[in-house]
Amino acid sequence: MNIQNFKSQIEKSDRDYLWHPFTQMKEWEKEDPLIIAEGRGSYLKDIFGKWYLDGVSSLWVTVHGHRKKEIDAAIKEQIDKISHSTLLGLTSPPAAMLAEMIVKSAPKGLSRVFYSDNGSTAVEVGLKMAFQYWQHKGLKSKTKFIYLNNSYHGDTLGAVSVGGIELFHSIFSPLLFDSYKIPSPHCYRCEFEKDLCSCRLFCLGEAEKTIKKHHNEIAALIIEPLVQGAGGMITSPPGYLKGIKKLCRRYRILMIADEVATGFGRTGKMFACEHEEVSPDIICLAKGITGGYLPLAATVTTEKIFRVFLGRYERLKTFFHGHTYTGNQLACAAAIANFGVFKREKTLQKLKKKINVLARELEKISEFSHVGDIRQRGVMVGIELVRDKGKKKPYHLKEKMGRKVCIRARDKGVIIRPLGDVIVLMPPLSISMNELKSLTRITAEAIKEVTE
Ligand SMILES: *Cc1c(COP(=O)(O)O)cnc(C)c1O
Repeated sequence: MNIQNFKSQIEKSDRDYLWHPFTQMKEWEKEDPLIIAEGRGSYLKDIFGKWYLDGVSSLWVTVHGHRKKEIDAAIKEQIDKISHSTLLGLTSPPAAMLAEMIVKSAPKGLSRVFYSDNGSTAVEVGLKMAFQYWQHKGLKSKTKFIYLNNSYHGDTLGAVSVGGIELFHSIFSPLLFDSYKIPSPHCYRCEFEKDLCSCRLFCLGEAEKTIKKHHNEIAALIIEPLVQGAGGMITSPPGYLKGIKKLCRRYRILMIADEVATGFGRTGKMFACEHEEVSPDIICLAKGITGGYLPLAATVTTEKIFRVFLGRYERLKTFFHGHTYTGNQLACAAAIANFGVFKREKTLQKLKKKINVLARELEKISEFSHVGDIRQRGVMVGIELVRDKGKKKPYHLKEKMGRKVCIRARDKGVIIRPLGDVIVLMPPLSISMNELKSLTRITAEAIKEVTE
């Protein structure tokens, strides 16, 4: 078939039958959709054969690049055995072996892996686990959760109940359970108008007030360690995470670390919690777990929590939760291969230099007259565009500056996606030095051209 006809056919099917996530479909209809047909390394290829640099790792998932030989091979090998069998009443080699690998790389003390399919379910599992833990412990009043302003934990209702992004979450408020919100450690837009040099983590003190007042009703606090991703790549100040962990211990509440975005090397270490030597009670993993290949998630907890669920069946201490595709064999095989590549290629070691180069490149962009703030942690970057730099005044929503910049970047061969007016850069960990420089150069050009 002629390629133009093929494009028209795909476009028609898309327009007539598809509903895209987080997308105003009325605008989508008017756009010329980019149709991705292939990928390789840090690049995506459209149906016409044009290559684009994948600057956001296909929404934060790709780790070692597209079509990574070892992961491709592991999946093909697994396909020739079996693709899926249930973990209800049965087990499988990939599911069991991967669980061991996860535990051996996770922060100290985390020792039991519960699988699901995506970040939201990993969070749901964590919330329910924490809740049921206290029920079994006999502290039946501990039923509520604490979350941070600007937090994002997924789109299912439990995850939205502990979500702090008004724009996404407010419409669903009648459906949600009550939770307590503490401030976001957002130094550029500090809720208390403090200055980082002198604030001595004022927001942590405010968090303590809430925790102190309500701890008897709190099952757990949930936090994205070091970087609040979807909230705008908000990087927390040094010591904040450790401080939260201390408060959780002092007031006897569980700590759930949502490392769905930060996990698997994104911040420069395997898990963000390692930077402040924090071991949470529960950790949620997804996005990068299969190297960006297949939907898989894991909620990992401690032996202490796991043991509270043990007992004779009729005592009903079982964790009654599970998803049909839990522990999918193909996905687990991909995840095992993903760990293998980390080790063999010394991915994290090689990343250090890239993180430094990235920081240097970003410094130039921070001079731009409409770049208010640049936040970087490892290879997670947010570039906040503002109308007035001195007053930190944002653009109006309808100006869609973030989107315009990303569209301009796409014309220049780079795929990036904004969070409002925050331009996100989140390249695969495997990105080469030259590709990294192209990414920042083209992003810089796009920002300059659109804002100046
Ligand atoms: C993406 C994300 C989720 C949700 O994951 P899904 O796979 O989209 O359900 C949860 N928490 C964080 C921190 C995320 O970045």
